[in-house]
Amino acid sequence: MITRLLGKVFSGRLFGGSRPKIIPRSRHSIVRDSISPGALRVTQTLRSHGYAAFVVGGAVRDLLLGGRPKDFDVATNATPEEVRALFRRSRVIGRRFRLVHVLCGPETVEVSTFRGPNAVGEGEDRGIDEHGRILRDNVFGTQEQDATRRDFSVNALFYDPATEEVWDYHGGVADLRRRRLRLIGDAEKRFREDPIRMLRAARFAASRGLELEARTRAPLRRLAGLLANVPASRVLDEMLKLLTSGHATRGVAQLRRDGLHHGVLPLLDIIMEQPLGARFVNLALERTDARVLAGKPVSPGFLFAALLWHEVLSAWKEHEARGEHTVPALQRAIDRVLTAQREKLAIPHRVSADMTEIWAMQPRFEQRFGRRPWRLLEHPRFRAGYDFLELRCESGELAPELGAWWGRFQRAGEAERNGMLAREGAAGGTGRRRRRRRRGGAARPAAQPGPGT
Ligand code: ATP
Ligand code: MG
Repeated sequence: MITRLLGKVFSGRLFGGSRPKIIPRSRHSIVRDSISPGALRVTQTLRSHGYAAFVVGGAVRDLLLGGRPKDFDVATNATPEEVRALFRRSRVIGRRFRLVHVLCGPETVEVSTFRGPNAVGEGEDRGIDEHGRILRDNVFGTQEQDATRRDFSVNALFYDPATEEVWDYHGGVADLRRRRLRLIGDAEKRFREDPIRMLRAARFAASRGLELEARTRAPLRRLAGLLANVPASRVLDEMLKLLTSGHATRGVAQLRRDGLHHGVLPLLDIIMEQPLGARFVNLALERTDARVLAGKPVSPGFLFAALLWHEVLSAWKEHEARGEHTVPALQRAIDRVLTAQREKLAIPHRVSADMTEIWAMQPRFEQRFGRRPWRLLEHPRFRAGYDFLELRCESGELAPELGAWWGRFQRAGEAERNGMLAREGAAGGTGRRRRRRRRGGAARPAAQPGPGT
């Protein structure tokens, strides 16, 4: 009886799971060498000054999954000021949620102090809004409280580089083994506290190949509308993370499956409910995934230009139908789409400037005469414009021949380029008029049924 009771105490059951399961080096797959030099230095220094210090969150999860984390976060019981005092090259950042950035050579290690639940007050002071969304989150707490306020069990794991132990308060290691994504605590309450967690669920499931646990998935469809209360910039950040995770295609499908797209995220409605654009968008997502997985950079401007292209295209056609000329009609269409989307999506100015450049370049690809192609080659964003043109050709919107011509023109030497232009000129009178006529006919997107239809 006594031993059973003691057993329960130590396994933490009497404390509602407050004691961690400590997994020794021999029972998990993380090797110390895979921890970044910066995170090792930071945890060692904190420890040598008597503080607890663990690698935490996504890095531990990804190492246990056999992946390579993109950054290493550290959690400690030292306050931001105490951390700051130990590292010369460090600064406190964040107002709502204060953290310390410690610079270690080229690496920045983010150090956060264990957080606990907010003291619950009255009225405004409750720290949550009328839907249950947490407005403040800056109360220090114990390690166990810190684990409990994290989102998913697999994101609440701590690794101690000194002892090489994994500390697991919420069964995250078992969940990882079963490839299960489970929200800590009551799913509805946790999604209400921070609706962004719904998008994070889709992203982690898609990018880490995890399955949403049934109780985590159940409230999603019902609570999707709460995303509308989240500041647009946070939604945009999270969407960008999903779109550039290397698993955008799967991530977007996952959002759709859980009903997270409809009417909530205008961007996703656009992506998935335009039959004509579906093929184009899916191609763009596949290309983005391939680039990310090959370690190449992806630009948010290009991505959003692709996601909104068919909006622009239909506005462009409308303006042309009213008798406006190709280029001014496109410019009007761009302005219209950006004005409508900028506010909803909180697209930063530098991103919309990129989008405009890529879009505005498109009619210039159809002008294959005189000096124009030479000038276009010199455009600083030529590469992005050309990649975009290729997407248009591949999706059936334009004749493949146009993309192939530009592929050849780029690679060709001067003589061959002149030959290509001469052939173009000979083939059709004044290139300018011919182009305009042809674009009017060819720019209709082929109505190919994509997966979104
Ligand atoms: P990645 O960096 O690959 O996106 P990550 O898990 O490191 O994955 P971050 O956004 O960097 O994600 O967050 C770090 C950690 O902070 C998470 O692992 C999680 O423990 C916690 N966290 C982040 N966002 C939330 C949230 N909205 N609610 C609760 N905990 C969160
Ligand atoms: Mg991270």
